[in-house]
Amino acid sequence: MDIAQYEGTVVNINTELSKSSESDRARTIEKYRRIAEKGAMSCPFCNEKLQLRAGEVREIHFAHLKGKSCQEADAYDTYRNQTQRENKKHSVIKEIIYTELKSQEIIKPDLKVEYGYKEKAAEKWKHYPDIYMNKNGREFAISVITNVHNIGDEKVVKTINKRNRYFEEKGLKSIWFVEDRELADDYEHRVLHLWEAEYDLAIKTEEDQIWDQLINDIVDEFPNEKLLDLFHYKAYGPMDVDVRSLYYVHSTGDEISFSVYRLILDEKQSPYRAFAVTRGYRMHMSNALIVRDEILLSDKQREDADRIDFVNEVARKLEQAREVEQAAAKVPELSYKEVAVTALPKAIEVADIDVLEYMEKLNHLRISESEAKTLFKYMKKHRSDLGDYGLSFADVMRTINYALGKIMDPKSEFGWWILNTFGN
Ligand SMILES: [Zn+2]
Repeated sequence: MDIAQYEGTVVNINTELSKSSESDRARTIEKYRRIAEKGAMSCPFCNEKLQLRAGEVREIHFAHLKGKSCQEADAYDTYRNQTQRENKKHSVIKEIIYTELKSQEIIKPDLKVEYGYKEKAAEKWKHYPDIYMNKNGREFAISVITNVHNIGDEKVVKTINKRNRYFEEKGLKSIWFVEDRELADDYEHRVLHLWEAEYDLAIKTEEDQIWDQLINDIVDEFPNEKLLDLFHYKAYGPMDVDVRSLYYVHSTGDEISFSVYRLILDEKQSPYRAFAVTRGYRMHMSNALIVRDEILLSDKQREDADRIDFVNEVARKLEQAREVEQAAAKVPELSYKEVAVTALPKAIEVADIDVLEYMEKLNHLRISESEAKTLFKYMKKHRSDLGDYGLSFADVMRTINYALGKIMDPKSEFGWWILNTFGN
């Protein structure tokens, strides 16, 4: 391996050699060789003494004495080889993510975070994730990938694919963070242009499953409509409803932020592309890396708003398509209202809330816009239970409409939607 414990710190022999000029190289090697010979350099993992070897076959490295073996040092070597293609930002980003996740261990007893090669050294894995995470028994392989602009390289594509399959076989769910935004998006055409490797970096999260449900609900509702045609997306072939997400990481100094894209991958052929489900958005690291059942990686409010936008857009497109058809022949009219009402409430998860507390706030106009929205969604979902609270749906809707009129612009998308759905 390239590192050793020496005088209280870890030295990397390659870093030391890069500091010395070509003519001093031999002298530097000799210096560390002698220091190691005197037993002053030890393994950072097992503390056993190390020697410096500068053979012809392998590059210069520290090695345990003959007959000694060390699992963690072997795992470290495997991991080092694996990350050789990455740039300098790789370890910076990895460390920041590790620190953020590790800090949550204290408050979450069922959370474990460790470097991949340390956690799995004893099992002698062939590939290690940068970070290993275990939440309540569910295991995750978190990896950062840099130099994505070279990613078209067939070898890299194979490597990512191999690693994904390996982690899956081991029962780990892969999470990839891609350095910087390599993705070329054309939201106007609802197209994301991708590198081939990005197919394997797109992952499936809980939030993507909620999107699947929404889109499937719309598809069920309108079996004769081709959703992608409505968006004028020219698919290479039939596409299943399988929303996935790509996570890009942007770093400036010690700060990093993430951006989130939701997409449905098209057939894997060049030029590689996907249907853009959302426009994508940025979020701060501390919001993105909150661990619940898995890493959050999304902004719940933003996702709900995106879903409302999506449904509204589908409704608008359907309306337009209908108008075109109606011009040609008489077909039954389909209203905007119908789409939004049937598709949306099923798809948007509604948290349990204290209805009476919210109603109290509502009656006194002390409710916030987001609370009013939550209440609205709750009311729609639990319509039949309202009697238990001595409330009628019509009364509640009237009060919500009244309150929303006071606290938000009725011309906004959401106000508009409520007013159009329920009238006054
Ligand atoms: Zn060791």
